Amino acid sequence: MNKLQLALTGNPNSGKTSVFNLLTGATQSVGNWPGVTVERKSGSYRKNKQVMIQDLPGIYSLAPYTPEEIVARDYLLQDHPTAIINIVDGTNLERNLYLTTQLMETGIPVVVAVNMMDLMKKNGRTINLEKLSYGLGVEVVGISAIKKQGIDELMKTTLHVVEEDHQTVHYPSYDARLEAALDEISDVLGNTVCPSQTRWYAIKLFERDPRAIDELNLSRLQQKEIEEIIAIAEKIFQDSSDAILVNERYEFITKLIALCMVDEKNHFLKVSDHIDHIVTHRILALPIFALVMWGMYYLAIQGIGGFGTDWVNDVLFGSLVPDFVQKTLIHWQVATWMQDLIINGIIAGVGAVLGFLPQLIVLFLCLAILEDCGYMSRIAFVMDRIFRKFGLSGKSFIPMLIATGCGVPGVMASRTIENEKDRRLTVMITTFMPCSAKLPIIALVAGAFFPKASWVAPSAYFIGIASIVLSGIALKKTRLFAGDPAPFIMELPAYHLPQVRSVLNQTFLRSKAFVKKAGTIIFVSTIVIWFTFKFNFSLQEVPGDQSMLATLGGVISPIFKPLGWGVWQGAVATITGLVAKENVIGTFGILYGHLGSVSDNGKEVWSLLHADFTPVAAYSFLVFNLLCAPCFAAIGAIRREMGTVKWTLTAIGYQCGLAYLVSFVTYQLGHVLFEGGSLGFQTFLSLIVLAYLIYQIVRKPKQTIIELTNVVPSMKEG
Ligand code: GDP
Repeated sequence: MNKLQLALTGNPNSGKTSVFNLLTGATQSVGNWPGVTVERKSGSYRKNKQVMIQDLPGIYSLAPYTPEEIVARDYLLQDHPTAIINIVDGTNLERNLYLTTQLMETGIPVVVAVNMMDLMKKNGRTINLEKLSYGLGVEVVGISAIKKQGIDELMKTTLHVVEEDHQTVHYPSYDARLEAALDEISDVLGNTVCPSQTRWYAIKLFERDPRAIDELNLSRLQQKEIEEIIAIAEKIFQDSSDAILVNERYEFITKLIALCMVDEKNHFLKVSDHIDHIVTHRILALPIFALVMWGMYYLAIQGIGGFGTDWVNDVLFGSLVPDFVQKTLIHWQVATWMQDLIINGIIAGVGAVLGFLPQLIVLFLCLAILEDCGYMSRIAFVMDRIFRKFGLSGKSFIPMLIATGCGVPGVMASRTIENEKDRRLTVMITTFMPCSAKLPIIALVAGAFFPKASWVAPSAYFIGIASIVLSGIALKKTRLFAGDPAPFIMELPAYHLPQVRSVLNQTFLRSKAFVKKAGTIIFVSTIVIWFTFKFNFSLQEVPGDQSMLATLGGVISPIFKPLGWGVWQGAVATITGLVAKENVIGTFGILYGHLGSVSDNGKEVWSLLHADFTPVAAYSFLVFNLLCAPCFAAIGAIRREMGTVKWTLTAIGYQCGLAYLVSFVTYQLGHVLFEGGSLGFQTFLSLIVLAYLIYQIVRKPKQTIIELTNVVPSMKEG
């Protein structure tokens, strides 16, 4: 078996010698590095002789100036150790992390050991190691060499990192413009250097590092191209290229420090950190999030919001408004068709949508509170951690959070993602998030079909998130999207009490946008829907099931039969939902509303839906409308962000395809399990589809393995 080579690095006085002695015990061999009078020590790990530990000289940076720096740097680049253990003095974190960023730039897996934990405790300063690890993107272990604490854990973590079969290398994240310049230099380098060192050399060339320039033997043309790239960057940053990198490293470190330093003396920050320990806990975070979401939806859909919506639906738009309007219209002797349009078209449609306003207001209020107090950014942090495990960019979660309001700005927010593949992927999956226009659909299905079950509404939210995460995982394994994630640090502001003003303002703005849409797009749509529902193609007034709408719906509806809702009304609502998702409800309002025939406190408004949908079919309808193509405005945004029609169609196709498959499985299995449906060919088919979907998520990515084997020969050539 090959011996594992671990390199021990750190600043002078970080405690490296102490750690080295603890790790190797009596097995050390001491000599000199070739050609220089720098002491060279190595030894095997006390507990596993197969693990060799190479002690590197104490250094502050990997610049090629002092003999120590040159020795350390040459060893890392030429001897390719399996991993680097970076000893960091926790009492001097900022200065020590400077070396860490450079070690990470080498592309060799790094494990950070924060030493002097005992001393820090005494001084009343703590580092939140989880956050540091998150920010750096590498494993971090707290140790105290003097107290011999944490050493075993450090080795366990390191060996684990080494064993992981698909390690993703994390680089520090720098300014997007610098990253772009580095990418361009990497392109110029092509396969002059082996892929795992491309980024290192891109950085070194950018810094005009003399040793790297010597080592590479670049052609005249390459040198010229690189010099041009550097010149542009220097113009943009108004600084010399080596200064740009130093600044960027420190900026990265400043962000890290802000993220992970806990000041025990500042009581508030300390409490904030304690809360973070719980809500961002590796295991507890998701259950807590689920509970919070459940509580929020319960309050909004069934609780306070529910009463409000019942009243608006049943009393306000159920009798008060239509009765009053009808009397007025009769009084004014308005033509009967006009009366019908106003009462059974506009009021039924727009009213149905506005009926959900009370629930939405409560939901907006809860969301605004969660956002304002800082909880939602913690969730992005937790999700990011999950995403990264699968090689996805954490930045994808900002668009997702925005998309809970509206998909259009959500899709646009993907612009912050530099990596083209990750950006496309994000555009493709962001609109799975239930936006505020989809909430009425959720509230309707939950209220009309599952009045007693409090899980239905939050489940829609989780289906959205699960579709995003699982799609991300599955798609990232395909050739279209494979690649390393862009590094990213989320800033986590300390918790604070939500500010009444900003919460109310946020809620008001969102509610206003909703009402405004009801008065414009939805208003016009209801007129069209009413008209096509009243007349047939010969423009004769006919019963609804012979109308244009029914005829058109009837053509499409067979497609949805396997999903449990093959009725034309479902097809029509889904199609009108493309104009704006609120239309799904507006359409149902017109098709099923039959206002006037409803009793005074007409609980029955939505009960007519039961004639055409079983509860499981309604749920499948909800799932489909949640995941399928978003409204035209969002499709437009996708088109703009994707740039090409082909990519846009791919995205819409994926969304509709996934929506269809998931709804199919939901209905077929749900119908058999909960509604006594009989087992049949479709049940069997749905099991196959389910297995296929699961396989796409859990399978090993084939492509990356192929890419890796391609890498090896070119390394030899290089
Ligand atoms: P090196 O220069 O990086 O090899 O560091 P050393 O191992 O020689 O340690 C430098 C100084 O820090 C020594 O005085 C150590 O006793 C002290 N030291 C090392 N680790 C710890 C620790 O965990 N806690 C404290 N309080 N002191 C430490």
